[in-house]
Amino acid sequence: MLTLTNLHATVADKPILNGLTLTIPAGEVHALMGPNGAGKSTLGHAIAGKPGVTITDGSMTYQGQNLLDLAPHERAQQGIFLAFQYPVSLPGVNAAQFIRTCLNAGRTARGEKELNAAEFLKLANAKLAELKMDASFLKRAVNDGFSGGEKKRFEMLQMLILEPSLIIMDETDSGLDVDALKLVSQTVHNLRDAKRSFLVITHYTQLVQAIQPDQVHILAQGKIHQSGGLELADKVDSEGFAGIAA
Ligand code: ADP
Ligand code: MG
Repeated sequence: MLTLTNLHATVADKPILNGLTLTIPAGEVHALMGPNGAGKSTLGHAIAGKPGVTITDGSMTYQGQNLLDLAPHERAQQGIFLAFQYPVSLPGVNAAQFIRTCLNAGRTARGEKELNAAEFLKLANAKLAELKMDASFLKRAVNDGFSGGEKKRFEMLQMLILEPSLIIMDETDSGLDVDALKLVSQTVHNLRDAKRSFLVITHYTQLVQAIQPDQVHILAQGKIHQSGGLELADKVDSEGFAGIAA
């Protein structure tokens, strides 16, 4: 369970999150919508511990641990995964090596045995097939020269392999065609289980409907302005944010 209470955060000394309170129980899928600049990405960054986001007040706990005490890589080892809105390219860093290193760091932290190159390849190839991705992906450098859609597929590949317990998707759907959008909602359905939580940040009511979230939240001016069910996403579709988050 993720619990954020009265969270205040600044970026470059500018207040972005202003008293945000949100709880995501284990096993639940929550969708987060909101106007541009509302602080959605900043919220994802704050949970993952991205440097540059300063928490000035409030608390963040995950599975009973104070996230503020944990470095970004320790949060990742606790099972927190953030799929970036704008995935960064890492020229020279091989994609397979990158994911295997992340996976093995997590396994070591949990006291599990590391996967060797052959074991990893077997696992990765099965997941690539699930995402209808070509095996040649793994030979490329992370996100280097990837199209927008390929970058988002690569984020989903990481989710399928790393099996995080909290998945934050920051507009993983943006710029995707209809088939890739289906893949995003399928990935949510496939990974959904009693222990895993999701925070899906999106502008698309269609995606919200497809993932069937337990709750929908509207973020405006750095706070959760309203929470509800699917009807809230329909309202965004028909009225825009102006009518809801004014
Ligand atoms: P959203 O994802 O909801 O569109 P963001 O969290 O990206 O919103 O941004 C929230 C606000 O923070 C915006 O006003 C944006 O301009 C500002 N912001 C984000 N990153 C920086 C930065 N590095 N320096 C200054 N302001 C920033
Ligand atoms: Mg954003």
